[in-house]
Order: sequence, then structure tokens, then C-alpha cells
Amino acid sequence: MTELAATNLKKYNMYVNGEWIEPSNGEYFQSYNPATGEPWCYIAKGTAEDVDKVVHAAHRAFLNSEWANMTFTERGRLVRKLGELIAERAEELAEFETRDNGKLIREMRGQLKYLPEFFYYYAGLADKIHGETLPIDKRDMFVFTSKEPLGVVAAITPWNSPLYLTTLKLAPALVAGNTIVIKPSEVTSASLLELVKLVEEAGFPPGVVNVVTGFGQPVGDSLTSHPLVRRVAFTGGPETARHVVRNSSENFAKVTLELGGKSPNIVFDDADPANAAMGIIAGIFGASGQSCVAGSRAFLHVDIYDKVMQILVDRVSQIKIGDPLMDETEMGPLATKTQLERVEKYVDLGINEGGKLITGGKKPGGFKQGWYFEPTIFEHTNNKSRITREEIFGPVLSVIPFKEEEEVIQLANSTDYGLAVGIWSKDGARAHRVAKAVRAGIVWVNTYRSISPIAPIGGSGLSGFGREGGYEAINEYMQSKVVWINTSTESIPDPFIMR
Ligand code: NAP
Repeated sequence: MTELAATNLKKYNMYVNGEWIEPSNGEYFQSYNPATGEPWCYIAKGTAEDVDKVVHAAHRAFLNSEWANMTFTERGRLVRKLGELIAERAEELAEFETRDNGKLIREMRGQLKYLPEFFYYYAGLADKIHGETLPIDKRDMFVFTSKEPLGVVAAITPWNSPLYLTTLKLAPALVAGNTIVIKPSEVTSASLLELVKLVEEAGFPPGVVNVVTGFGQPVGDSLTSHPLVRRVAFTGGPETARHVVRNSSENFAKVTLELGGKSPNIVFDDADPANAAMGIIAGIFGASGQSCVAGSRAFLHVDIYDKVMQILVDRVSQIKIGDPLMDETEMGPLATKTQLERVEKYVDLGINEGGKLITGGKKPGGFKQGWYFEPTIFEHTNNKSRITREEIFGPVLSVIPFKEEEEVIQLANSTDYGLAVGIWSKDGARAHRVAKAVRAGIVWVNTYRSISPIAPIGGSGLSGFGREGGYEAINEYMQSKVVWINTSTESIPDPFIMR
């Protein structure tokens, strides 16, 4: 009897061309519940051969008239229907994701309630996508542009927010008329596999939405280097991103990269100290710090430093760590054992580098199993240590004092990342000045971790390039075609010059 047959764990196959298929090698791997450290389901271990099969299916579906000839309005209707089905199954999907990656059920319920709005937003945009008639500078020429889809999209997502990060790719890619192959993280594939069960019910033709599961190597690798993939939408870390860009460059596939950050919260002396402290907590301890926009650095003005620190430390000491499926839990486990070990290493590094450990820094007591870690705060005198510069992707906050506006802008910008910045101040003019001066794709003033389908996200530098969300995301999944029509009845006089 195989290991798989010997257990009662749920087994997930891959969704290819409207069917649930077994991996070509027949192999599956275990997915773990971070709250217990125990396996809870099996995921198909895809191969390069499976990737080739799925990309061809997506390519056929792209060319197939059923999808290719659909109007934007019709595609919008399908995307809206998918959003409505997700809304109906929200509670169940929230639980799957909590079990899979340890995110709080209270956060997942909120996320799943809101997620359909992303589908509705892009569904609403569907029949507003259009080209233009150009006021061309040549008499007798009528020139217009139209918008066309790119082809097969490869969507690669990390483990920290599988459904939300997939939605940011799926909804605009479909509305634009592409077909898609999604490769979720090997450690959190189940919630997405549950979501795609709704694709057929929504009415999408087979092959338009596909999921191939397995490891970065070979699945992610062969997907991003496949010659029929015309667009790669990647969310993950910079190292993998470099690999993905090299792969996709072979075939000149269009790429967007949503990567990590070392995002600061800047608290000026005129800020509301309690709100600023709550914003800092939301930024770094929400999702146990496993968020691309984690506000892992806090710059506090010296005149408000003690006050904010006191509120921060008091509230952090009361954070309820526990089972993410319990309503009252405020911080759940880290998603993987590897991530827990990474956080522990960075905490040791912080101490060795001279950072002052204010609170946390270890596994909480009372947990026999699961990958829990305490909310951790370090104080630093400057922004030079590795833990203030490198992305940890866990609940570790570095706090640094500042005196002047120019000084803090320089501190905030002294990072290779450029994803998000939080500014806390009651001075509107200052907020505008600083928002303009900081290098980041997202700036929040007197708030943090706010999201909406209407607002784009993305960064620069090591945080990647391209934007997801908002209207501009549509353009990332389309290309323009320009059509020239000569309306003249005269003969063409000289074929050897440009007209
Ligand atoms: P990762 O290791 O870079 O993995 C991301 C995805 O790439 C996973 O699905 C992974 O598969 C896949 N992959 C691995 N090797 C590959 C290869 N050779 N070719 C193609 N794909 C490959 O990142 P992670 O550890 O899962 O996620 C954490 C990172 O994501 C952090 O840096 C975080 O900041 C970033 N992030 C960014 C955003 C944003 O919107 N800016 C949002 C969330 C997270 P496997 O899981 O099988 O290895």
C-alpha cells in the first residue's frame, strides 16, 4: 500500500482543460497545516511533461472560437459570475486557506467577503476596454487602435496570500481575453484548487483557466520558459524573480514582478500616537508579518518616540497568539517550518548586530506543535544592520528614531526595495511632500495595509516592476494593434518612400 493510500487525507489533482487530472508520474506531496505542523492534504506533484500538456491546452483554448470570439461584455459576465460564486462559498474558501497557510480566519473571512469585488470591478471594466481613433497627421488616412489579448498567461504565486494574489492576476487576465495557467506555491495550493472548482460552473470554456501544481523546479521553471507562454505574472521573492525573468526572456514573454519590501512607517511628532501605533501593528504583525507590504521598519520622531513605543509595546504584549481558526486569535503561526527557522536566524542576527530586543524574539510558550513565533520588536540607533535592510517576512519590527523630515526621507529611501510607505502626520502639506519624496509604489497616509480593486499595487527596485489592481492592470494583459486605412482613391505615386 502506498503512503497516500494509507491515509484519509484529501487528495488534490490538477485542473487542466476543464478536467481534474493526475500527475504524469503519479506522485503527490503532503501539504501541512501550520497550526499543527501536521500534513492535512496531498497535492499533485506536476512534471515538466504536465506543464507542456497544460500550456498546450491553454493555447488551444486561446485560439478556440468559443473564447476568442466572445465579446468583452460576455467575458465580463463570466468574470462577474465567478465572483458571485466565490461570494457564495466565501466561508468555506476562507477555512481552506486558514488551514493551508495559517492566516487568521477573521482576516480570511474579511478577505473572502471582499475578494468578489475584484471580479466585479474587472467585470465592470470589460466593456470599457477600447482603442482610439487617432487624429493622424496624414490626409486620407483613417487610423485607429484596438486592444488585443496576449495569449497564454503564466501566473505564479507565493504562499502568503494565495487567493488574493491569484485574483489580482486572474480577473484582469480573463477580462482581457487571455487564457491562464496558474502555478500556486507548493506549500499553499489547496485553497486555489477549491476556487477553480467554480470556474466551470461560472461557464468558462475548458482550457481557459488551468492549474498546475508542484515545485518551483520543475513546474515553475518549465512554465516560465515555455515558448507558448506570452505573459508571466509573478509574485514572490527577488531570487526566484531573477530566474523567472531569465526564463521568460528566452521567448520575449511580457513579465510583471510583484516582489517583497522593507517598507517603513514614518511617524512625525504631530501624529496621533495611538493611531500610529495601531498602524505599525497592522503593518508588521498582521498576517504574522508575512506580507509583501509588511511595515518592518518604524521611524519615530524623537519627540513622540517614547509615547508611541509605550502604546506599541503595551498592545503587542496583549496580542492573542493561537489557533488561526479561532475567532479571538490575533496572530497565527508562520506558514512553514522553513519560514520559522528564517525568522529565528534573523532575530539572532539582530541581537549579534547590536539591536536592542524590546519584546518577543522567541517561540511563545504553551504551544507543543505549530510554527508560532512571538511578535518581536528591536530598537536600533541607525538603519545599517542587516535586519533593518533585508526582508525577513515575519513578525519582526525594527524601530529607529529620527529628528528631521529630510533625514527620515533619506532613511526611508535607503533600501533596495520600493514597495510601500506609511506616513503618520496631521500636517497635510507635509504628508504630500513626503509622499512625493519617498521611493515606493504605494503610500498610505494615516492608514496602512488598505487595499481596493480600484487602486494599483506594485513597486520599483528589488520590489519589482509592473502594476496589479486598478485599471492599469488591464493594460498589462493586453497589447495595442494599430490599423491604417488609406481612404484615397488616387494611385500610390512612389513606392520607395515612407508614406
Ligand atoms: P518564492 O520562493 O520566490 O516563490 C514564489 C513562487 O515561485 C512559488 O510558487 C514558487 O514555487 C515559484 N518558484 C520557485 N522556483 C521557481 C522557478 N525556478 N521558476 C518559476 N517559479 C518558481 O517566494 P515565496 O517564498 O513563496 O513568497 C515570499 C515572497 O513573496 C516574499 O519576498 C514576498 O515579499 C513576496 N510577495 C510579494 C507580493 C507583492 O505583491 N509585491 C505579495 C506577496 C508576497 P514553490 O512554492 O514550489 O517553490
